[in-house]
Amino acid sequence: MGWDYAPAPEARNIVKIQPRYGLFIDGQFVEPKSGRYFQTLNPANEAVLAEVAYAEAEDIDRTVQSARRAYNEVWSKLPGKERAKYLFRIARIVQERSREFAVLESLDGGKPIRESRDVDIPLVSAHFFYYAGWADKLEYAFPGRTPRPLGVAGQIIPWNFPLLMLAWKVAPALACGNTVVIKPAETTPLTALLMCEVFQQAELPPGVVNIVTGDGQTGATLVQHPDLDKIAFTGSTEVGKKIQRAVAGTRKRLTLELGGKAANVIFEDADIDQAIEGIINGIYFNQGHVCCAGSRLLVQESIYPIVLRKLQRRIQLLRVGDPLDKNTDVGAINSLPQLRKIESLVQIGVQEGAELYQCDCPLPEKGYWYRPTILDKVSMAHTVAREEIFGPVLAVMTFRTPDEAVAIANNTRYGLSAGVWTSKGSRYLEFARRLQAGVVWCNTYNKFDPASPFGGYKESGFGREGGLHALSAYVAF
Ligand code: NAP
Ligand code: MG
Repeated sequence: MGWDYAPAPEARNIVKIQPRYGLFIDGQFVEPKSGRYFQTLNPANEAVLAEVAYAEAEDIDRTVQSARRAYNEVWSKLPGKERAKYLFRIARIVQERSREFAVLESLDGGKPIRESRDVDIPLVSAHFFYYAGWADKLEYAFPGRTPRPLGVAGQIIPWNFPLLMLAWKVAPALACGNTVVIKPAETTPLTALLMCEVFQQAELPPGVVNIVTGDGQTGATLVQHPDLDKIAFTGSTEVGKKIQRAVAGTRKRLTLELGGKAANVIFEDADIDQAIEGIINGIYFNQGHVCCAGSRLLVQESIYPIVLRKLQRRIQLLRVGDPLDKNTDVGAINSLPQLRKIESLVQIGVQEGAELYQCDCPLPEKGYWYRPTILDKVSMAHTVAREEIFGPVLAVMTFRTPDEAVAIANNTRYGLSAGVWTSKGSRYLEFARRLQAGVVWCNTYNKFDPASPFGGYKESGFGREGGLHALSAYVAF
C-alpha cells in the first residue's frame, strides 16, 4: 500500500485505574479475607493494569449474606417505580462516563475502541434504560399473574463483552426486585469494578449489587453457595454442564447462555458486496470472541469463486493492532491461553486438509495477536467445522440447494445464532423458520437491541436474555 492512516489513539488518561481493588460488598470495597490478589493485564502489551482481590469461600459467604440482607430489608420492599429510578440513574451515569468505560474495556480486554465506544457501552446504558422501563410494569409483562422476585441471584460472566454481560444480567434481575452477587471473568474484571463507583453515585442501596472477583474456582464456589435462589451463567458449554450438575436437586433456578458455531449462509441471489461486509463483521468483529460469531460460512456453489476472492482481498485491508487506535479493526486476543487455543485449532484445521489464508499485516511485537484467517475447503467432518474457535477464523464450506444449506447449518451441537444473505424475502423467512438457532439475522449480522431476546437451542443453553423474555428468568408466580 502506498499510504497509511496516521495513528489516532484515544487518550487513556481519562480513566483512573487503582493499583489494587478489593471486593465490592455491601456498597463498599473491602479487603478479601483470603488475603490474596491476582493481576489483570492489558493483552495488547502484556503490562499489568492492576491487582484484584481473589475471593474464596469465606468472602463469598459474606457477599451472599450482604445480598440477602439487602433483599430482605430493602430491595424486595421497594415498589417497582422506586427500583426504576435507580436503574434510570445507573443508565444515565454510564452514558455520562461512557468514554471512561470504553477506554477501560479496551485496555483490560483488548477489543478495539471503536467497538467498546460504539457497541458495548451504548448497549450497556440501553439495557439499564430498557429494564428501568419494565420495573414498575411487571404486571403488564405477565398479564393476569402476580410476579414476585426470586431472591438472591449468583451471576457468572465471561471476558468477551465484560460490562455488557454484566448489564444483561444485573438490569433485569434488579428490575424484578432481586439482589445479586456477580463474578466477572479473571482477565476482564476492571469495568465491573468501575461500575461499583456508578452504583455508589446512583446511591443504589448497599448490598443490592455485590462483586466478587477471582477465577473459575471462585465461580464454582459461588455456584455451590446454599443461600442462592438463582444462578445465571454465560460462558462455555463445558463449564455450563458442570454448573448444571452442581445445581441439580437444589432450589436454585438456572439459565445458561453457552457456546455457538453459527452458520452464515450466502445464496447466489444475495447482494455480494453487502454480504462480504456482513461476513467480515460477523467473524472478525471483537477478534471473533463472540459466542454468536458467524464462524462457518456456507456459500452457494455458483458464487463460491467470487465470494472467496472478495473475502481474501477484504481481509488484507483489515487493520490489526492497538485497541485504543480509532482506526483499528481487529484488536488483541484476550489472553495467552485463548491465543494458544486458536493457534492449535487452526493447525488442526490445516492438518485435516483446510486451505489457509491470512491477512499479512504487521503485528505488534508484544501482546497477544492473531491474524484474520480464512480456512477454505472445510467439510463437516473437520474439527474446525464443529469446535468453537472463539477467534478471528472463518471456516468456508459450500452447498448446492437450500435444503443442503439447512442441513449443514443445523448439523452442530450448538444453536445460538445464524445469518442468511439473500434478496428473496420468502427465502429468508423460510430459512429462519427451519434453522435451529435462537437468533437469525437476515442481510445483516451481530445486531443487538435490549428489546430483542437472545439465547440458544441445544447445547447453546436455555433461557433468554434481553426483551420481555429476560424478566421471566427473574420472577416466580
Ligand atoms: P468459561 O471458561 O466457561 O468462563 C465463563 C465464566 O465462568 C468466567 O467468569 C469463568 O471464570 C467462570 N468459570 C470457569 N470455570 C467455572 C466453574 N467450574 N464454575 C463456575 N464458574 C466457572 O468461558 P470463557 O472461555 O471465559 O468464555 C467463552 C465462552 O463463553 C464461549 O464458549 C462463548 O461462546 C461463551 N459465551 C456465550 C455467550 C452467550 O450469550 N451464549 C456470550 C458470551 C460468551 P474465569 O474466567 O475467571 O476463569
Ligand atoms: Mg485483562
